[in-house]
Amino acid sequence: MTHNLDAVRRRLRAGGSAARVWAVVKANAYGHGIERAAAGFAGADGLAMLDLAEAARCRDAGWAGPIMLLEGLFEPADLAVARQLGLTVTVHCDDQLRMLETAPAGPPLDVFLKLNSGMNRLGFPAARYAGAYARAQALRQAGAIGTLGHMTHFATADMPAGLGDQWRVFERATAGLPGPRSVCNSAASLRFPEVAGDWARPGIALYGASPFDGESAAALGLRPAMALRSRLIDVQSLGEGDAVGYGARFRAPSPMRIGVVACGYADGYPRHAPSGTPVVVDGVRTRVLGCVSMDMLAVDLTPVPQAGIGAPVTLWGADGLSVDEVAQAAGTIGYELLCALAPRVPVRTE
Ligand code: PLP
Repeated sequence: MTHNLDAVRRRLRAGGSAARVWAVVKANAYGHGIERAAAGFAGADGLAMLDLAEAARCRDAGWAGPIMLLEGLFEPADLAVARQLGLTVTVHCDDQLRMLETAPAGPPLDVFLKLNSGMNRLGFPAARYAGAYARAQALRQAGAIGTLGHMTHFATADMPAGLGDQWRVFERATAGLPGPRSVCNSAASLRFPEVAGDWARPGIALYGASPFDGESAAALGLRPAMALRSRLIDVQSLGEGDAVGYGARFRAPSPMRIGVVACGYADGYPRHAPSGTPVVVDGVRTRVLGCVSMDMLAVDLTPVPQAGIGAPVTLWGADGLSVDEVAQAAGTIGYELLCALAPRVPVRTE
């Protein structure tokens, strides 16, 4: 985590940006454990997360620095909690402004107004941004808001389209308005550091996975923060035509040995990973065979004839096998696999 934070910072600096970094730790730090991430990102300028429960866990874990809440203000009581935890909050809709306007007086809350610059997920549309800003500015003058900043989120920073119109829309809507800016996720931090403004918000890159389809994390100088490992718990010898697993989705074209790995979809391994998905057994790259079951999956032992019961297996994140490769084979993205790691998987911090 420390290495990846440095790598993203270096990229920002190389692009001429002095942006501070909120390390995004939502979704239990993309499956890595929010307390572990609060320690791993001790060198970050702040942490960003989705909701109040996650923010409270970071404070409980001893994180005293800035915390950016990316969502999570749903009712007036939430404001009191946000104040108590000393959070910076995202305000993206009229309801949230109204909540601030009608809340009992309290210490000022730092706020980033969110502009919908084209993703059409959260945020004030550009045409209404000035009005939202005027209301927030009035709250600032009344002492309910401290720092008042501006943010947006890019939909295609990882794709050939790049920032599309979104950067232009953000620049126009916020032109001349004082306050810090925050626009960059991982892809934008790495690819468009020149637009990063005051605070970058990288997530996936800090865990050592790639935000880009065609570019590996290793090529970006990132290292996996998580390795998913298991062992062989059985070995079978198949004859020609013998089937493997539910649905008999794989049949041996000739006699072969297969290994059974103690990892299945109940651990967070993707059930839709097809035969051929890469896996490493005893340091040798081989492939998944047949249908992934709840607790187990089968692997081809042809390239690793010495492997027997107890042989170490890497599902992703070590031995040159990235989570992105597994995700691609399974028709998903590294984000989903990391976030979906099941609570039953024993975790060892190294
Ligand atoms: N900012 C916001 C508002 C987000 O929703 C996310 C994640 O989806 C991020 C930043 C971090 O994105 P990434 O993990 O692609 O760097």
